[in-house]
Formats: sequence, C-alpha cells, structure tokens
Amino acid sequence: MKPLNPALLALLATAIVGPAAAHAQSAEPTDPKATEQWEPVPKVITPGKQDAAPPSDAIVLFDGGDLSQWEMTKDGSPVHWKVQDGAMTVDKSSGNIQTKRHFRNYQLHLEWQVPKGITGEGQARGNSGLFLASTGPGDAGYEVQILDSFNNKTYVNGQAASIYKQAAPLVNAMRPPGEWQSYDVVWTAPVFAADGALKSPGYVTVFHNGVLVQNHTQLAGETFYIGKPKYKPYADAPIKLQAHGDPSAAISFRNIWVRPLD
Ligand code: MG
Repeated sequence: MKPLNPALLALLATAIVGPAAAHAQSAEPTDPKATEQWEPVPKVITPGKQDAAPPSDAIVLFDGGDLSQWEMTKDGSPVHWKVQDGAMTVDKSSGNIQTKRHFRNYQLHLEWQVPKGITGEGQARGNSGLFLASTGPGDAGYEVQILDSFNNKTYVNGQAASIYKQAAPLVNAMRPPGEWQSYDVVWTAPVFAADGALKSPGYVTVFHNGVLVQNHTQLAGETFYIGKPKYKPYADAPIKLQAHGDPSAAISFRNIWVRPLD
C-alpha cells in the first residue's frame, strides 16, 4: 500500500479523534536530532598563537616589516612613514595613508601607541584615526578616533574609540602614553541601491584593549569635522590611517590585519 502523505494523515486524525490529537502531531519535536544542522561545515582555520596574532585566513596589512600594503591617500604613491622596531610612525608632513586593497565588511585588528611624554591637550594630543572606509581624499570616510584620552578632556564623541562626532565610546579603556593599545573592529559597511539611495546603514563594533566600546553602533553617515554626518554611495574602499596635523608628537602603529567577511 502506498504510504499516506502526512497532511492527509493529520486531516484524518482531526476527523477521527478531534483537533487536540491533531495538534499533538504538529507539536515541538522530541527527537534532539530534529534541530541538528550538519551542513555547511565551517571552514577550518588556524588561530594565531595569541589572540592578537593574525589567524591563518587574515590578510596581514602590517607586520612590522615593510609598508608594501599601503599607499599615500593623496596620490597613491609609496609610503615613507618611518618603520622601526616593528612599528610604523606617522609622518605628519606627508599625509594620510591607506591600503592598496579595497574592502567591504571585515574584522580588523590594529595596535597603536601614543609616545610617552606626549604634550598638548584636547584634540591636539596624539590625534590620528582609523578610517573604516576611505571614500575620498583627506579625511573622507568613517573614522574611529585615535587620540590620547588618558586624562585628557575633550568632547566625548571625539575621544579615543569614538565614532568621530557621532558616538562616544561606552567606556574609556585608555592605557597611558607609552603603552600599546589595541582596536578590534567588526565593520558592516553601508549598502546602497543602484540609484545611490541608502538601503542599509553601516554598523561598527569596537573593542579597545579588549573592552567593548562600540556595540553594533549604527552610523548616521560619514564622519565630518564640521557638519552633520551623511552618506555617500560606495562599493568597497581602502582602510585609511590619519596623519593629523596637530603639533603633538606622532603616534605609531603595529600588528595590523584584516579578515574580509564578504
Ligand atoms: Mg582623528
């Protein structure tokens, strides 16, 4: 005999023993296997020896060696920031730098250090920035602020780990000058329709020295020094580091890697 199909069986059960029994048939499964998922199997990667070290599927943007992954934002020429002792130091006179590669969504790790004995105050004390997407020359894009915010008062949506002029960090997790700081970032890029209209805003999660400081923060647009944020369509973009013109001593970077999530 041909097996009856389940829908027909349920109908028969309703007719014979009433709706309660029929309901029992469609109740939550009791077999644990019913909720198991076996495919697709996540790709196996090798994590770094420490959490700060790049995993096997990361693109290393700077490992203390050369600056071959980077170019000058202004003209795409080679970068001559000084590399010494496994770190690169901002050259304020030459300007912002950015990755040669373009990215959309990603996980990023970056370490930075404000030099010991830094001077200045407010925004003029170790100012730099991590631009999650460089959407044009200069400071165009989406900036996570880098600044000496260890005992240094400024507007809170401009202190270290803020989304510049948009969102203050949840806490101030700053280490003192002379110590290395880390940012671990998850960036979900904004999505634009073919006509340039915003389909989905950008979101960012940031850990500063392992501490959650931006929790899936929604961006209102690109970050501006003057004026309200607004979006400008882009598909993918370089990651940019800021050479800020404040007169304080230049900061340094090391151990930068990224894992594209597209
Ligand atoms: Mg800045």
